Amino acid sequence: MSGLQRRLAPILVGLLLSACSSASSIQDIQPGERPDLETDEAGLWMRMDRVEADLRNSGQVVEDPALQAYLEGIVCRLALEYCQDVRVYVVRTPGFNASMAPNGMMVVWTGLLLRCENEAQLAHVLAHELAHYVQRHSLKHWRDLRDTSSGMAFFQLATAMTGLGLIGDLATLGALGGVMSYSREYERQADRIGMAMIQRAGYSGAEATGVWDYLIREKEAADDGGSLFFATHPPTEERRDTLAALAQVLKGGRVGRADFIGLTARHRMDWLRDELQRRDYARIEVLMAHLADSGVDPAGVHFLRGEMYRLRDEEGDAARAITAYHAALKTRKAPSETYRSLGLVLWSIERPQEAQAAFRQYLRHRPRADDRAMVEDYINQLN
Ligand SMILES: [Zn+2]
Repeated sequence: MSGLQRRLAPILVGLLLSACSSASSIQDIQPGERPDLETDEAGLWMRMDRVEADLRNSGQVVEDPALQAYLEGIVCRLALEYCQDVRVYVVRTPGFNASMAPNGMMVVWTGLLLRCENEAQLAHVLAHELAHYVQRHSLKHWRDLRDTSSGMAFFQLATAMTGLGLIGDLATLGALGGVMSYSREYERQADRIGMAMIQRAGYSGAEATGVWDYLIREKEAADDGGSLFFATHPPTEERRDTLAALAQVLKGGRVGRADFIGLTARHRMDWLRDELQRRDYARIEVLMAHLADSGVDPAGVHFLRGEMYRLRDEEGDAARAITAYHAALKTRKAPSETYRSLGLVLWSIERPQEAQAAFRQYLRHRPRADDRAMVEDYINQLN
């Protein structure tokens, strides 16, 4: 081989490889694999690396070593030899979403953790996302889109999928979501491969339907297309039924409720307050009812359910709020703000004596409250 040939050989091999890879025969990614620098895939990774760096510096990532270790454990149990290639970020963002970038960045929104009932349900969502990674669906999808006007939207959406800069931007997501929604073929593949990972890891297959049942309920209540995950993963009865059929062959398996509930418990109130701030009441109402039914943290859940009705303030909401506050107080573990909120609602429907009593209870439970002077003023006004 001449000197020139020696120098050209790697370039020719590179060209050959990129020619092959653009011929739609994209293979599954291998454990530890990195794309060749000359490829569009490497460019895709680089942009995602930048998004990932922004995410790390955003202050939105939940810092809880126990929760982090727990999630990484689930991912490794599902991903096995790909474990080292995946980095998990729990991002403090309301709404149901999880996403997997082609460079191995997995993003889990706190709104997803609020909506799962147990570890197996969470594992189903993560396994589905891991399947997209292994099958290089992002790359395939990018190649379908790069020459169209949707090419830039792809990157905007990839950023939105992390939850960065998302609040206040939800109106555009319904429209943009379609860009990121994989073809039905990719979705079916991800469901099938995800289910195989679930089986291999020993999780309950039946829990997949629980997730989709819940999502269908939320979609029916909201009916606004404003959820990123719904836009990219249409929650259909067909999909749930297919998963149910796949799960039929899997009997038993790990559900993991106690660990899951225990590790998310200390964040639940903060994450629920995030959901309330979004004021997407149709969705929150479904979520609150779901949590109330599941019996998780009844004091906090009933209190925030009351807050939701108080803030929404539609016909009949005052009565609903009062019922929820009383349910919270009955647990004897309700936060003391429950009395203050109860007082405000009773005041608004002109039940002054009961409102006064509630405000007094609030001050009795929290004598050094920051808003003591204001609440005393309420009591005087009600005289
Ligand atoms: Zn998917």
